[in-house]
Amino acid sequence: MDDLSGFDVLVVGGGNAGLAAALSAREGGAKVLLLESAPQWFRAGNSRHTRDLRCMHDAPTKVMSGAYTEDEFYKDVLSVTQGKTNEHLARMTIRASTECTEWMGSYGVRFQKALGGTLQLGRTNAFFLGGGKAMMNAYYDAAYRVGVRVVYNAEVVALRVVDGEFQSLTALIDGKSTTVVATAVVVSSGGFESNLEWLKEAWGPMADNFLIRGTPYNKGKVLKCLLDLGMESISDAREGHMVAIDGRSPKFDGGIVTRLDCVSLGIVVNNKGERFYDEGEDFWPKRYAIWGRLVAEQPDQVGYCFIDSKAMGKFMPTLFPPFKAETIGELAQALKLPAEQVVETIKAYNDAVQPGTFDHETLDDCKTTGLKPAKTHWALKIDQPPFYAYPLRPGITFTYLGLMVNDRATVLMKGGTRSKNIFAAGEIMAGNVLGMGYAAGIGVTIGTVFGRIAGREAAMQALNPQAASLATPEVAIHAVR
Ligand SMILES: Cc1cc2nc3c(=O)[nH]c(=O)nc-3n(C[C@H](O)[C@H](O)[C@H](O)COP(=O)(O)OP(=O)(O)OC[C@H]3O[C@@H](n4cnc5c(N)ncnc54)[C@H](O)[C@@H]3O)c2cc1C
Repeated sequence: MDDLSGFDVLVVGGGNAGLAAALSAREGGAKVLLLESAPQWFRAGNSRHTRDLRCMHDAPTKVMSGAYTEDEFYKDVLSVTQGKTNEHLARMTIRASTECTEWMGSYGVRFQKALGGTLQLGRTNAFFLGGGKAMMNAYYDAAYRVGVRVVYNAEVVALRVVDGEFQSLTALIDGKSTTVVATAVVVSSGGFESNLEWLKEAWGPMADNFLIRGTPYNKGKVLKCLLDLGMESISDAREGHMVAIDGRSPKFDGGIVTRLDCVSLGIVVNNKGERFYDEGEDFWPKRYAIWGRLVAEQPDQVGYCFIDSKAMGKFMPTLFPPFKAETIGELAQALKLPAEQVVETIKAYNDAVQPGTFDHETLDDCKTTGLKPAKTHWALKIDQPPFYAYPLRPGITFTYLGLMVNDRATVLMKGGTRSKNIFAAGEIMAGNVLGMGYAAGIGVTIGTVFGRIAGREAAMQALNPQAASLATPEVAIHAVR
């Protein structure tokens, strides 16, 4: 390994947040070293699976339709988090999101025109042309161009922090323990979603049945180390983004294609054949992230989504083919479910469906009456064969337990004192904005906004520490618990 001394800023983790931080620190004139635990071909963590980010805008842009104001965006955050957010940090993120597409574009990230169709996101979210992999490849190209040094197979396993000041870290580089010193560090190493032991500690034995949608490299080692070193935590180990994915998906890294978007078009039963939640509660992009947790709470952590042929073609194509049969009973048998109960559940549902005008693009008036739980929108009878079903499992996307930060992305220590030169961005601090719940695309928004701030602040701390310490400390430590 070449000499790794002389760098001003270390960035730990090379996903969207890490690359935003590295590029931003270079803009500030810092010499930057990025350590990424995955090999090059597996770089960019969960970010390589992404498709879009959520942005505020007051008028149509080249890539988003209509307007999405600060107040509407914040209302959405409040609604999905049920108020568990830090308003100051959330509003700051929302305002800064107006600049994201242009800044990303300046480093070669390309966007596609606003989408229509089944996703209902063309107004609020900007989509990467070529998806998250293309976005991350553009970032890495830019990083090489501007002189960021990237080292792969470099897993950071320990940090040395004295009185709130980062001094050095230890990384296993190609398996060899190496100490690296720098003036400031940005941690952007994701959550702990791929650490099966930690998940089990938080969730108990049910965690054995969780599938991890993204990278196997986000084990939370840096997070744990900093929490052990006295940094203040945010959110809770059981909070996170968890969606219902196809139960046939691989344990790790199945990615976006394993998601099932048919829930709002049908009904979902557990392995006793009983419904357990309103499948039509709200638009799918606002509600899809609660379904992982709902399925996790069911016996054996499984669910089954039943639809009929009217629903086919109205949701994103699926990776695995659906189970299919001419009758509900046969379909239930194929899934090894108690057929009589499933038939009974679907009959009770069909009997409760009221006439209405189906419109999947609006919160329509197709609903049930007298049924518990109700289905409040898009309730159509499941009566047109052939019938289809998909098995569901909880798919964990990322965890929210993280590091508490202020609006300069500075990591706070217990009691709210600022660490001197430790900054955080991305999943590792997303819990400051997302105490619970999720609004599609906000993960990349948080990572981009805080990555840029973290890089700028780390560069300033490294190159002009006096100015950094004099800058107004607008500390926002209203804990989100
Ligand atoms: C399937 C899927 C689809 C998603 N789609 C979207 C979407 O469309 N829009 C959206 O906003 N969000 C989406 N998300 C969530 C999204 O991935 C995150 O919010 C965001 O991209 C995370 O960025 P990050 O940089 O914080 O983490 P990551 O992109 O996961 O990067 C963390 C990096 O840190 C590295 N690392 C971990 N530990 C260490 C260590 N000890 N030492 C060194 N390196 C380490 C990892 O290898 C990884 O490369 C999706 C997630 C998944 C799994």
